Amino acid sequence: MGDVGVAGVGELERELRRLDGAAYGRYRGLVGEWELPGGFALRVVRAQADPYAPPARVAVRVRGERAGFPGELWDSPVRRRALAGWLVRRAAREAARESAFHVDAGGQEVLARSSCTVGDDGSVTLRLGVALPGPRRRIDGRAAWELLGEGLPWIAEHALCHDGERAAEAAGFVAAVEDSAVLRERLPELGLVAFVADGALLPRRSGADDRPARRGGLVPFRAPEELRVTVDLPNAGAVTGMGVPAGVTLVVGGGFHGKSTLLRALETGVWDHVPGDGRERVVAHRDTVKIRAEDGRSVCRVDVHAFVDHLPGGAGTADFSTPDASGSTSQAASLCEAVETGARVLLIDEDTAASNLMIRDARMQALVAKEREPLTPLVDSVRSLHRDHGVSTVLVMGGSGDYLDVADRVVMMDDYRPYDVTARAREVAAVPTGRRAEALSFPGVTARRPEPASLDASARGRTRVRARGTDHLVLGENEVDLRAVEQLVDGPHVVGVGLAVELLVRRGHLDGQRTLAEALDLLDRDLAGPGGVAALLGVHDDDFAVPRRHEVAAALNRVRALRVRR
Ligand code: ADP
Ligand code: MG
Repeated sequence: MGDVGVAGVGELERELRRLDGAAYGRYRGLVGEWELPGGFALRVVRAQADPYAPPARVAVRVRGERAGFPGELWDSPVRRRALAGWLVRRAAREAARESAFHVDAGGQEVLARSSCTVGDDGSVTLRLGVALPGPRRRIDGRAAWELLGEGLPWIAEHALCHDGERAAEAAGFVAAVEDSAVLRERLPELGLVAFVADGALLPRRSGADDRPARRGGLVPFRAPEELRVTVDLPNAGAVTGMGVPAGVTLVVGGGFHGKSTLLRALETGVWDHVPGDGRERVVAHRDTVKIRAEDGRSVCRVDVHAFVDHLPGGAGTADFSTPDASGSTSQAASLCEAVETGARVLLIDEDTAASNLMIRDARMQALVAKEREPLTPLVDSVRSLHRDHGVSTVLVMGGSGDYLDVADRVVMMDDYRPYDVTARAREVAAVPTGRRAEALSFPGVTARRPEPASLDASARGRTRVRARGTDHLVLGENEVDLRAVEQLVDGPHVVGVGLAVELLVRRGHLDGQRTLAEALDLLDRDLAGPGGVAALLGVHDDDFAVPRRHEVAAALNRVRALRVRR
């Protein structure tokens, strides 16, 4: 240290003694760099305006030599993300002793988070909120020193530095995350879109608690012989499990036999999970997108004519907009948008799908003339989606046999155990139902060019990006409903989506000329590897997690003020 502008050890304590008893607002004078006892550095990024405002934001930095982690824990981008994930969970446990500290540790997923990053020199930065003490709106210099000058170094020493006792745990965490990431990247070369390891535990504690279930009677996953594959992982070695091949995969079975639980595990398989989660080796292709019905959403100039045609009133559907989509048109729009922006795998669950978009059986075809029915069901284009566009589908459908005709693979869940019933399904499908296909192919989707001015993240002259729970993003003057974007993990993830939209506009990636897919390619470059957190930092100092292009596209597509050219 000793750089210009960095206050040396002792100066923070002196400054806080000086400020003791002063008006609360003078905490603002702390913004800047300070040296902490123990060889750590503190940066006060934002002070708190008053005791009831959101906590001050600070960053604690530990130099690589001081942190002392062996190089193999941080010598690649994925290892740095994993080590940061392990460190931030430890830091959150240590910080919990003091209610003034707010550390975003994340849940079961190991995302790149702003709350903790590891640099390519092995340095560690922890970013957290600190509620600065202010009885009667006065600075309490002594209490503030205890938090900043004693509490933070304690956390840094006990959570952010290498210690021999916990070394094996850190190495295990990093190894598990790396294996998961490698497994996901290997899927394409194996011809797979997902993998579920033998022994995986898929059910969760409850619908509101994402930790692994721990009641009796849990059935660990076991791959059916026909779909069993072995994959070599860098740390765990050979691992066996069910490979879900590219193409159309149908998951069938009776109600309550574990179909949705399997699909849900695939949805979250685009992220890595913490050891002990049960889904550490459940992965899905990185471009896997969950699709569902979402009546009421807005749709802006999406080409949905593959699924919707001649609407009552004659509205064109190759260029379809509505402020209030129906179940089926919302799902058609979400599907077409996902294909437009590069999804390679679609996941659909009958529980949350619009049945009239999924199927139209022989009897209904006989009763309602095609000319009177605007919808062409997915069953008639799902094969072409793969054959002509390289987009695979995994579909949970226990209620209709029409998909047996078009599935490459049929997996039956029975008492939480998967069986490959493809051969039997073929026999059943050989008996004609009299149903006629309503489309020969999926025609593709016209690309859109969003106008950046319609995605302005500022409100009253300032950037405003905030999460309202996991469900809503506040982006400038817009409130974006993300309840149906099911692969978002938590509030900080929602903030990351908002920051990514802001970045797309600020860097000029969205310029009204580029297609949305082209702009997202540029965003992917910005967010790749270790740059992800760095690219989104700075505008904003709240906690965030780095999203994929698909979450960013989903949010942008739900901005009601969105305007696009085509
Ligand atoms: P489906 O979609 O087939 O109706 P779900 O996936 O919703 O079934 O699962 C029904 C219930 O079974 C849920 O409460 C879920 O937690 C539980 N469950 C799912 N998989 C397992 C399993 N492998 N072992 C034990 N319980 C499970
Ligand atoms: Mg279900």
